[in-house]
Amino acid sequence: MINRRNFLKLGAKAGGGALALSAIPIQLLAGDEVAVDEPLAQAMGYVTDAATVDTAKFPKRAGDAGADQFCYNCALYAGKADDETAPCSIFQNRLVEGKGWCNAWVAKS
Ligand code: SF4
Repeated sequence: MINRRNFLKLGAKAGGGALALSAIPIQLLAGDEVAVDEPLAQAMGYVTDAATVDTAKFPKRAGDAGADQFCYNCALYAGKADDETAPCSIFQNRLVEGKGWCNAWVAKS
């Protein structure tokens, strides 16, 4: 039987459940690493090893200046230069490899 007290309990449980469910994807996204075969990664030319960039397709990384571009020295890499991985804002703060690269690379100032 649903009386006022039970109704309020159900509402609290439903609300609490919704909060718990909404927190799960955020936690997963914050800790997981970007995969190179994801659509956004492919569109951005993201690779986990910058030496493997197809410079014909992404000429930004061609030549001497391009060869110095890595995630670890990109302005969007939220980590130290010697961190193996760190969050990248292009990928909603999911982890990218320090030795990786994508076409959104911007020099750290
Ligand atoms: S924006 Fe910078 S840190 Fe992020 S994937 Fe591209 S090169 Fe790496």
